[in-house]
Amino acid sequence: MPFQQEFRSVRAALRQLSPVVVDVPPAIRLTLLQRYMDMSMRNGRLSLASFALLLFGLAYEAPLGPRVFAWLALAAVFGVRVVLARRLLARLDPADPRSDWRYDALVLLASSVWGLAPIALHGSISLLSQYCVVYAAFVATALLAITYIAALPASLVLVAASVLPLVGFMVWEGPGVMVLLALGTLVCAVALQLRVFSIHGTLLQALAAERQNATLVQELQVYRQALETENASLDSSLRAAAHAAHRDPLTGLFNRRHVTAFAEPLAEAVHAGREQVTLCMVDVDHFKQVNDRHGHRVGDEVLRAVGTLLGARLRDGDCLARVGGEEFMIVLRQCDASRGRRVAESVRHNVAASEIRTRAGEVPITVSVGLAQWAAGETFDAVVERADRALYDAKHSGRDRVEVDGNDARRMSTVPMDFLPTGPIH
Ligand code: GH3
Ligand code: MG
Ligand code: MG
Repeated sequence: MPFQQEFRSVRAALRQLSPVVVDVPPAIRLTLLQRYMDMSMRNGRLSLASFALLLFGLAYEAPLGPRVFAWLALAAVFGVRVVLARRLLARLDPADPRSDWRYDALVLLASSVWGLAPIALHGSISLLSQYCVVYAAFVATALLAITYIAALPASLVLVAASVLPLVGFMVWEGPGVMVLLALGTLVCAVALQLRVFSIHGTLLQALAAERQNATLVQELQVYRQALETENASLDSSLRAAAHAAHRDPLTGLFNRRHVTAFAEPLAEAVHAGREQVTLCMVDVDHFKQVNDRHGHRVGDEVLRAVGTLLGARLRDGDCLARVGGEEFMIVLRQCDASRGRRVAESVRHNVAASEIRTRAGEVPITVSVGLAQWAAGETFDAVVERADRALYDAKHSGRDRVEVDGNDARRMSTVPMDFLPTGPIH
């Protein structure tokens, strides 16, 4: 079996044994590993205890006085370490209720029992120091195992760490010495295992929270995408609605509502004399006859064609709208009545001269135009009314013609009508 395959099967078996289910995505496993390390850092008193044991073991070779002193010194160091760790934890996470006096006391008791055993036995136990070294090494190994190999049931490692050196020591020193040592080892092992179980419990919680988070994040992403799609479609329907509100559906030209909105900001400039604006009302002549003769659909085609012909004679800033059945309105900007009349004549001529092709064949069309220049102080409705009256005059004077409102006509200089431009008049 190739090495990698073997490694994988061993790892799978270990995972099955593990109290922590580690079959999780790499990112989460990394987080868990960090938590393990963080946890073992926080619970660094385990390693401190094992070093205490090590030093203690070395001190056995010394006379009784220094040994007691060493034990007291170590107990003091241990106490200071616990206080410092507690402060650090409180600073890191004030809400964390991990106050662990019982566990600290247990570890202290274990190392004390251990340390006092040779004193009680009055013996010179040279091998004990070796045992302590081995034990400390095993505890350190166990800590590494807890920290790095989440898949291993760490409690097994710890039991091995406690039992193996003990067995070795019994072989060398005889069973009598071992009763107290065994007790100490047992207490220490139980303490370590309690700690491991609590770490595992916390990790399981962390894992569950992590998984829940990942699911929630996924759900949130789905919701967000759905919302974004909905927003986009709302946006486009809002735009479509805004567009539709200002357009005439038949010709695609603007409608009366738009002209009113278009004129509103112009009023101030007109009243202040900063801008000249001329208004044309355009009405198709005898349009009813087109409908009667060719039908409504042909009439619609004619209306669309007239809209296009009217637009061809305007500038970008001007506004062309269909404001009634066969009525159109043109707002000419930067344009007084005399120039307006030239534009209107051009528009009228363009329609009359064009061949409007429909499904019923060519339909001859003419338009009449009424024109008025927006006067300072005048409302938009009033200038529309004047242009309407001029249109009425154009109809009554025979149609296919341009009439200027009387007030404007008097002010206008005469403009020769022989010049009829074919494009927008600038
Ligand atoms: P005049 O020269 O005096 O303006 O005569 P006219 O026939 O053009 O005017 P009149 O007001 O008598 O007729 C307008 C006609 O326009 C009547 C109506 O059926 C028609 N019309 C109005 N809206 C539409 C439309 O959207 N499509 C079509 N095909 N016809 C329409
Ligand atoms: Mg008409
Ligand atoms: Mg009409």
